[in-house]
Amino acid sequence: MPGWFLRGLRRGVVTTRYPARPDASAAVLPTPPAFRPEALTRELADRLCLICPSWALTRSGDVLIFDAGACTACGRCREAAPEAVTASGEFELAVTDPAHLVKRIPLLGEDAS
Ligand code: SF4
Repeated sequence: MPGWFLRGLRRGVVTTRYPARPDASAAVLPTPPAFRPEALTRELADRLCLICPSWALTRSGDVLIFDAGACTACGRCREAAPEAVTASGEFELAVTDPAHLVKRIPLLGEDAS
């Protein structure tokens, strides 16, 4: 029987102290990506849009549009371009308006020509 279950029965506490205190498991949770604009080119943005399985990424001109509400934190974009994409470490994404989850990231990298 898991130790946390017995501890909960003894103390009467069956949940963690989150959100009053950060939960230790948060450090290992997959999180949506964060992007480095200076490393993003149009070509790379198009590649990221194609590999994103949930259509969380689209490009409009020189802007990468990232919908964190559609992102599943699968990590494919980060694996494909570690120089331009990192894990945000942010998993608390509750908002009252879904539009607040849409980020516009300028493409500041130099396209090869
Ligand atoms: S983590 Fe996955 S779902 Fe989220 S933007 Fe990257 S590829 Fe798309």
